[in-house]
Amino acid sequence: MSVTLDLSRAAQARDDAPVNIAGLTREALRAALVEAGAADERKARMRAGQIWRWVHHYGVTDFERMTDVAKETRAVLAEKFVIARPEVVERQVSKDGTRKWLIRFAPGVEAETVYIPDVGRAGALCVSSQVGCTLNCSFCHTGTQKLVRNLTAAEIVAQVQVARDDLGEWPSPKEDRRLSNIVFMGMGEPLYNLDAVADAIDVISDNEGIAISRRRITVSTSGVVPQMQALGERTAAMLAISLHATNDPLRDKLVPLNKKYPIEELMAAIRAYPGLSNARRVTFEYVMLKGVNDTPADARALVKLVQGIPAKINLIPFNPWPGTEYECSDWATIERFAATLNRSGYASPIRTPRGRDILAACGQLKSESEKVRASALRAMVAVD
Ligand code: SAH
Ligand code: SF4
Repeated sequence: MSVTLDLSRAAQARDDAPVNIAGLTREALRAALVEAGAADERKARMRAGQIWRWVHHYGVTDFERMTDVAKETRAVLAEKFVIARPEVVERQVSKDGTRKWLIRFAPGVEAETVYIPDVGRAGALCVSSQVGCTLNCSFCHTGTQKLVRNLTAAEIVAQVQVARDDLGEWPSPKEDRRLSNIVFMGMGEPLYNLDAVADAIDVISDNEGIAISRRRITVSTSGVVPQMQALGERTAAMLAISLHATNDPLRDKLVPLNKKYPIEELMAAIRAYPGLSNARRVTFEYVMLKGVNDTPADARALVKLVQGIPAKINLIPFNPWPGTEYECSDWATIERFAATLNRSGYASPIRTPRGRDILAACGQLKSESEKVRASALRAMVAVD
């Protein structure tokens, strides 16, 4: 069974446009070099390795800096490929050090990327996988923006490159990094764009490049059950689930995708997630909505639901946005909720809201990209 939502070609450049190297896996780069006449079969692997280091270890944006590549080859590369960054339209820095970039990938195709210091080992980058989202979770700002399109692997990797440019992390540092973790928790539903997400993870985790280990890469899904197994098999990334409710009637309202993949199916898919263990726990995200899902009984139901699964529970204070009908639970309520979880043995950190002053916190991301109509979009979504 598969769910495909591949709009990437629709709003993308022509087929004969130069290929962006940032999104090519090692093997794809090798093949592309041969096809472009930039290396013959025998030398292709070695040449791909050289170029890989320049792009992903040194972060160069100009072929001329590839000094160990012959001048004629550099000319071929410059003709057939691109390594330039997309345009950063806006850069904001919060009082708490959170940074947010609005990146324009193409006219009308913009997405936000957020760097949050002191999260994970050193700092986490929250990347987007789509421009907008089709899924309309009722408490999420991104959900009010219609999908423009899936991002390509190159555009996902570019978000990491842009952050690294700004943080001054080239060449790829082995230690003392500021950017240590990646979370696919920006705009969009990553499992509706799994091919690009998986390729991007291959690139980002490569040891001779950006080298962020797969164990420090987390993919968050609202519960696209048929793609969860494939996510684990193809990426070995850590799994996060946007749960937010413990019964179907409420989850149907908060996360409408639940009507298609209800809680029982979701929990079965989580239990079957490849590589799940006490060292590799699933993270359950639970947004705290005042008077909606925040009672002690809700906390007990949550404990019961996740019983037996190696899990962490992440409580997210609701981040308000203009026009929302929800409010964040009171602090005392959140603490009481967390205490119930802790007593049952679940680490349940409360995710401190970060970057609220620049609308960079969870669920606040929204770009003003051109919108496609929902009906047109549904017609393009193929689900079997
Ligand atoms: N689409 C994916 C990835 C986005 S992750 C997913 O839904 O899992 C962003 C996390 O923030 C999700 O858990 C999402 O449910 C949550 N979120 C969305 N809007 C929010 C808001 N206004 N306040 C707090 N958390 C929110
Ligand atoms: Fe989309 Fe995630 Fe927002 Fe739901 S919470 S609308 S799946 S981005």
